[in-house]
Amino acid sequence: MIYLDWNATAPLREEALEAMLPYLREHFGNPSSTHQAGRKARVAVDAARDAVAALIGADPREIVFTSGATEANNLALVGVLARTPGRVLATQVEHPSVLEPLRALLQRGKIELEWVPMSPEGALEKVSVSPGTRLVTIMAANNETGRLFSIADWAAVAHQAGALMHSDLTQAAGRIGVDVHAWKVDLGALSSHKIGGPKGVGALYVRRGLELEKLLHGGRQERSRRPGTENVAGIVGFGAAAAAAKRELENYAVRIRALRQRLWTGLQTLTPQPVLNTPLAESVPNTLNVSFRGFDGVFLLQRLDLEGLCVSSGSACSSGVSEPSPVLVALGFDSERIRGAVRFSLGWNTTEADIDAAVALVKRAVTSLARVGR
Ligand code: PMP
Repeated sequence: MIYLDWNATAPLREEALEAMLPYLREHFGNPSSTHQAGRKARVAVDAARDAVAALIGADPREIVFTSGATEANNLALVGVLARTPGRVLATQVEHPSVLEPLRALLQRGKIELEWVPMSPEGALEKVSVSPGTRLVTIMAANNETGRLFSIADWAAVAHQAGALMHSDLTQAAGRIGVDVHAWKVDLGALSSHKIGGPKGVGALYVRRGLELEKLLHGGRQERSRRPGTENVAGIVGFGAAAAAAKRELENYAVRIRALRQRLWTGLQTLTPQPVLNTPLAESVPNTLNVSFRGFDGVFLLQRLDLEGLCVSSGSACSSGVSEPSPVLVALGFDSERIRGAVRFSLGWNTTEADIDAAVALVKRAVTSLARVGR
């Protein structure tokens, strides 16, 4: 199997697995217990907190462990807006874990929602943030197109207008340098499984001093911001993955960018030539989103899957019906370009041989589908 769907999830890193095993076997203590078994778990959770904080330039006290980026985004948005409602400025290409809590808050009459206008290529058009805006939420890297947004610039305009800045950092952390203090972000969401940690763990960065309404009510874990006995092994794995991602960041970016270029160069030799959906210089180094005009991305994906290549299409299947990707719809692409979209996303295990084999498989699939009417 050739796996080029790393934006969906990544394999567990060996160092994350190794770090987790003792906490699944012998070190089973509850970090809230004051005896030695509890202290052992507490020390491990705190070490993981240091590693996750270091990956994004935060202070460890600013990290709240959650069940994933979905919960982190919900905690950030509901945590701020349930307490002090107001206007929110967001992009239409945010992940559902940002858009859906915003929609729920909108329905409850808690917020007014304003969208940042986008160019046809998906770049955000600069707008001023209206005074009285409570929160600006813009992701650092888009999961489908890979498009990067300049969070430091948005944080500056948000703060000028007296608004808080939230950013979904899920697809950026470990792929580009993220520095929440330099960027002056107030809230940022992370997911462990995108960087080679286990699934079901994530974190919310909360700038020191910022008070949040709780999503869940219970014990006093995570400085009373997220109750429930900590997922110790999961958190330890997340910490190990964060440390590895930080250590490898520079080499990773150079190597992955070169592999992505090799993939794009290879795909350009196909007939018909695919169109690029985000300029490479403006996207996170591991993501290539292209459209095969006249083809159905879902068919193409199924065909490639049969041949052993895992990629993702521009359509999401819900209840067996394929719906066009809301992200590509928001970019204003025509329906043929949306239907033919395929996302390739690379990771630290991807090799040149994988890329060359993937190009050959796509070529074969495109050629044979073209014959049967796509
Ligand atoms: N935000 C983005 C941009 C994502 O890509 C994802 C995962 N698809 C999430 C949030 C949700 O992360 P998790 O799976 O940890 O809940």
